[in-house]
Amino acid sequence: MKKRVILMGPPGGGKGTQASLLKEAMEVPHISTGDMLRAARKAGTELGKKADAYIVAGQLVPDELVNGIVAERLSSETRGFLLDGYPRTVAQADSLEASGQVVDAVVLIEVPDELIVDRIVGRRSCPKCGSVFHLSTLPPKVDGVCDACGGELIQRGDDCEDVVKQRLTTYHDQTQPLIEYYSSRGLLYRVNGNNEVSAVFAEIRKVLEF
Ligand code: ADP
Repeated sequence: MKKRVILMGPPGGGKGTQASLLKEAMEVPHISTGDMLRAARKAGTELGKKADAYIVAGQLVPDELVNGIVAERLSSETRGFLLDGYPRTVAQADSLEASGQVVDAVVLIEVPDELIVDRIVGRRSCPKCGSVFHLSTLPPKVDGVCDACGGELIQRGDDCEDVVKQRLTTYHDQTQPLIEYYSSRGLLYRVNGNNEVSAVFAEIRKVLEF
């Protein structure tokens, strides 16, 4: 089984949803820089304060802020990893490589731009356990309540239409160059993200060989 994995794809493309399923099946940690940054904001740390303005504007937090937290998180990790939302720039990928981390596969979950806005604007997340729902495609059993932990569901501040459009532009400009970066290293695997969650999961399982 390939256990050192990067999940890549547009915002709202399903990286987080797939990571939640994969971490159970593979018994490897799900490391989401978005979740780490949101936790830092909530806790009011220096990092959180610095990251805030970028997140609400749909821009990337500067590389030097995220590289450090990921390198530290991975340094003591022996089980493998599912990186969700990192790396997002060539400089971040270089930093990961320079830290000596071996990557077995980069899974690119592809979703056409025109579907992204609806997918994100209908999204509702649980700040307590990180579960993600969608008003029309994956509604919670009880309105506004997390199926997994009973927490109150929220709409993330950066999940509104204007910010989503900026996040997509940021993705095209800064993250898409990583497709070439990882395909030239023979690590890139494309899966169709415009499909049911279980079908995407099945495709990823094949790629990761389990
Ligand atoms: P999504 O992939 O749906 O856009 P994330 O939770 O991964 O959502 O990211 C939310 C925001 O957090 C991003 O728009 C960005 O501001 C910040 N962020 C997350 N990961 C990174 C990263 N690797 N580098 C820079 N900024 C990041």
